[in-house]
Formats: sequence, structure tokens, C-alpha cells
Amino acid sequence: MFKFKKIKDKLVYQLDEKVCQKMFSIANQAVKNAYPKSAEGYSASVLTKKGHIYPGVSYNSDTLTLTMHSEAVALAHAVLHGEKDIIAITGPNCHICKQLIWENSLRSGIDIIVVIKDKNRFKKIPISQLMPYPWPEK
Ligand SMILES: [Zn+2]
Repeated sequence: MFKFKKIKDKLVYQLDEKVCQKMFSIANQAVKNAYPKSAEGYSASVLTKKGHIYPGVSYNSDTLTLTMHSEAVALAHAVLHGEKDIIAITGPNCHICKQLIWENSLRSGIDIIVVIKDKNRFKKIPISQLMPYPWPEK
């Protein structure tokens, strides 16, 4: 479905502008469902190898520690549909979420593309480039 290159030992998918725009459109539509208040919430979306886009919204806790970030919820949303192979996620992401994305990448062998909207264009950055000294390394 999507073209990819094998770089070192990982697959890096190539995304066109249209799919990037769709990822942000779906994430932006989902933010209204952020919990408990959309105005204080965040949203993200993931793109799977099968071409499906799953949104996630932040789910806040009064403890703050138990708050679930929209990226984690989007990853779990995809898994709930039986899709573990994530090829891209919207960003930017906090460092906790980068760690979660990195760990997913290690398991799938896919260098997940973090798509960042910068004015009217998309920056597509493999998670490996955002994690120069990752833990675990492999
Ligand atoms: Zn986060």
C-alpha cells in the first residue's frame, strides 16, 4: 500500500502530503472528545501499515501521573483493532510518548515517521532521528 525503503535494519515508509493531511484532519476532529474537557485536551493519530488512521485523545486524571497522552491512546486504539504495525504518528510529541513510539518501532522493525505540521508543509522525521541515544538501544 505505502512505499518503503529498508534503511539499516528498519523499514521507513514514504508518505505523501494527502495522507499526512488526513492524519491531522482526523486528529483535529477527535480533540472535541478529549477527556474531561476538549479545551484542555490534545489529540493525535496513527497511520497503520494497512492504511487505517486511528485517533487518540488525552484522558486527564486529577493525579496527573495517571493522565494518558493522546499518542498512547492512539497507539492503543490501533491495537484494539488488531493493528500493531504503526508507520506514522502525528507530532510533535512529549518525551514520554517518543519513548513509547520508539519501543513500538523496536518491536515492529518500522522506523515510525513522526509527522509535524510546520506552517503549510509537513516535516516527516523517523523516530530514530528523534532518539539519538535511545533506551533500550535494540
Ligand atoms: Zn506525550
